[in-house]
Amino acid sequence: MTNYLIIGNGVAGTSAAEGIRKQDKEGKITVITEEELPFYYRLRLNEYLAGDIDEQSLIAKGDQWYKDLAIDLILNTRVVGADPGKKLVETENDLTFSYDRLLIATGSHSFVPPITGSDKTGVFTLRSVLDARNISSYVKNIEDVVLIGGGLLGLEAGNALRKLGKKVMVVEFFPRLLPRQLDPDGAKRLQDTMEKMGFSFRLGAKTSEITGKEKVTGVMLEGGEQLPAGMVIISAGVRPNMELAEPLGLHCDKGIQVNEHLKTNQDHIFAAGDVAEFRGMPYGIWPAAMEQGKIAGAVMADGDAAYQGTIMANTLKVAGIDLASAGNIDAQGEFESKVVTDEHIYKKLVIEKDRIIGCIMLGNTIDFNKITKIMLAKKNVSQIKENILSEDFDFKNL
Ligand SMILES: Cc1cc2nc3c(=O)[nH]c(=O)nc-3n(C[C@H](O)[C@H](O)[C@H](O)COP(=O)(O)OP(=O)(O)OC[C@H]3O[C@@H](n4cnc5c(N)ncnc54)[C@H](O)[C@@H]3O)c2cc1C
Repeated sequence: MTNYLIIGNGVAGTSAAEGIRKQDKEGKITVITEEELPFYYRLRLNEYLAGDIDEQSLIAKGDQWYKDLAIDLILNTRVVGADPGKKLVETENDLTFSYDRLLIATGSHSFVPPITGSDKTGVFTLRSVLDARNISSYVKNIEDVVLIGGGLLGLEAGNALRKLGKKVMVVEFFPRLLPRQLDPDGAKRLQDTMEKMGFSFRLGAKTSEITGKEKVTGVMLEGGEQLPAGMVIISAGVRPNMELAEPLGLHCDKGIQVNEHLKTNQDHIFAAGDVAEFRGMPYGIWPAAMEQGKIAGAVMADGDAAYQGTIMANTLKVAGIDLASAGNIDAQGEFESKVVTDEHIYKKLVIEKDRIIGCIMLGNTIDFNKITKIMLAKKNVSQIKENILSEDFDFKNL
C-alpha cells in the first residue's frame, strides 16, 4: 500500500488528494496543514471580510468529504524539516511523518516590501482566514484605510472595507491600476468607475514610511504627502513558500521547479500550486493550482497525465464592475489589436500572427470564456477578428 503525504491543504493539495484517490482506492493519503480550517475558498476571503458570507460558507470540503475519501487531514501542524534519505518530514511540534510519495503544496505568502514602519500595529496583509479575522476585528474602530498596492487583491480588499463604510485610499507604485491586467485606457476607465464608488487613488506613488508610534496613524509618500490611516493593508504580490526546498534538496528559482508531470528533481517528490514553478513561471492563480494538483495526484498514483500550462486569466471580483483579462494585454501597443469601446464598455483583443494572445473585457465579460478558449486553442482568427468583439457575434460554428 502506497503512503502518500501532502503538505498544504489549499486547492493544489486538495485536488491532488482527490486525484490520488481516483487512481488508488487503497493507498494511505495524509494531508498536513498549519491552518485550522479544512480546505476553504481562499479567493472568497474578501466576501468574508465584507461580511457578505460567514466563515462556514468559506469551507469547501467538510469533515464528511475527508471521511468518504479516506483522507487523513491534520490541522494546525506546520512542517519545518525533512529527511529525504529516510523519507520523513518533521513538524514544529516534533512529530514525524513518513512517505513513499510526497507533494509540496505549500502555496505562497504575501510579500511585504521593506517599508519603514511596516511592523507597526495596524499593518496587515491578507492571505489566510486568520488574517481576515484579524483585519475584521481591528478595522471596527478605524475610519481611514490605506492600501499599498493597486493590483487585483488590493482593489478587492479595498472594496470589502469600503462596503464596511471605511474611507479607502489606494497607493500604487505604477502610474495605473492593475498594471498586469489592464492597458492605460482600460485602467483609466476602471479608475473613473472606482472613484465614483468612493475610492481614492495615488498612482505612480511610492510609500516612504508608515507613521505612528506603535500604532499606525498614517502613510507618508515620497515627496512628503501625508495620508491619514488607522490601518494599512499591504498588497504587494506574493512569494512561494519554499522553506522545505532546501532540506529536501529541491531545485528552485522563482518557485520549486517541476516538469510537466509536476515532478521535482528528487525521485518521489512533487510540487504543485503557487509554490511550483513550471517552465519559468510561478502562476499564483487558483485555476493553475487546481489543474497542477489534479495532475500531480494522478501521476503520484502512477496515472498518466501531463500539465501544459494555464492561461493567465483574471477577473476582478467587485460588484458593479465587470472586468476580466487574459494573456498579453499589450500595454505598450506593440501588437495588432482590435478595440470596441463605448461609454460603458472597453474590450480589446491582442493579436499576433492571426492568433489571439490576450484580451481585456471591461463593462461586459459575457464572451470572456469563449474568447479565452479560442486563445487557448490558438485558432486562426483572420476571418473573424473584425467582428468577434461585437455583441451579436455568433460563436456557435467555431
Ligand atoms: C484574498 C485572495 C483572493 C484571491 N482571489 C483569486 C482569484 O480571484 N482568482 C485566482 O485565480 N486566484 C485568486 N487568489 C489566489 C489563489 O487563492 C491561489 O492561487 C491559490 O489559493 C493557490 O493554491 P495553493 O493550494 O497552491 O496554495 P494555498 O491556497 O496558499 O494553500 C497552501 C496551504 O499550505 C499551508 N502551508 C504552507 N506551508 C506549510 C508548512 N510548512 N506546513 C504545513 N502547512 C503549510 C498554508 O498555510 C496553506 O493553507 C486569491 C488569493 C487571495 C489571498
